[in-house]
Amino acid sequence: MHPCLLLAIATLPVQDSPALPADSGIVSAILISVDGLRSDAILALPADELPSFTRLRGGTSTLNARCDPDYSITLPNHTSMITGRPVLGPDGHHWIQNDEAPEDATLHKNRGQYVASAFDVVHDRGWHTALLTGKPKFALYDHSYDVEDGAPDTTGPDDGRDKLDDYVYTTKTEEIGDGVLRELGDGSRHCFLFVHFAVTDLTAHVTGWDITPGSKYMKAVQKVDAELGKILAAIDAQPALRGRTAIVLTADHGGGAPFKSHDQHGMWVDYIIPFLVWTGAGPRADLYELNTATRKDPSLANPPTDAAGLPPIRNGEGGNVALQLLGLPAIAGSTLDGKQDLRLH
Ligand SMILES: [Zn+2]
Repeated sequence: MHPCLLLAIATLPVQDSPALPADSGIVSAILISVDGLRSDAILALPADELPSFTRLRGGTSTLNARCDPDYSITLPNHTSMITGRPVLGPDGHHWIQNDEAPEDATLHKNRGQYVASAFDVVHDRGWHTALLTGKPKFALYDHSYDVEDGAPDTTGPDDGRDKLDDYVYTTKTEEIGDGVLRELGDGSRHCFLFVHFAVTDLTAHVTGWDITPGSKYMKAVQKVDAELGKILAAIDAQPALRGRTAIVLTADHGGGAPFKSHDQHGMWVDYIIPFLVWTGAGPRADLYELNTATRKDPSLANPPTDAAGLPPIRNGEGGNVALQLLGLPAIAGSTLDGKQDLRLH
């Protein structure tokens, strides 16, 4: 699809209902990353063939968010999501590898200093944390925030150094959705879940980032949509979760440049990604229209981190936005939504 068409369609209205109050009462936040999800994939099928993505777009959203300007690959971008830092620069997390890391590797050793995460902020307040992933290399995060490498908890009662209560790796997409339902439970415990769907990326590396309806890639997008549907249905069904659970959905990168990969970080197909914030409240709003004082729609560009002027909305804001929805402070040392000033309603 031509990018101008992409941007035109991205502004079409969808559905939704009453406004989110100032004190939103959100007690569970789910940060979802759909690996290799290009924004135009969401537009490639009729709304009723991607019902869950359509519903999530009915919150506050944009299809013109960006991955990191220097890296359009998996681990550097997911590290940005959980730390609120760009990859490079003085505030960067500096994790540039994309292979499975050795067991003794941590984000902190690599950076030469402790790199705090959204898991720290939530766990140090005694709330529940979990990471569910479809790729084994996410073990890097389990190792970085384990009982030996996580920071001491100096906030309130001591909840320990192991910042991740549950770490789940599975190759079965259905087990990711089921795992989210298990972690959410009946809504009686406050939680932050980081959820990673790999099937989209894994499929497209084999058959290409083909957004033609019926392609293997689009079938994978629909498979993720079905899992999102399970999660949304569980939220709808539980009074303790309904209206009290937020979903922030983005992607680590797009894909298609080259056709079966996504490592050309200067190509729009690789860096234009969605950023959707949903609580079940409305009305539907565009994130750039709500944030003209602090963020700027980058049109088709992906400006460098140190560019003059207002930044675009980036996937690396996901962690801090989730914390903002939970009423918790920003991640120590973070700069992406580090002021938690992204207006959501
Ligand atoms: Zn990939």
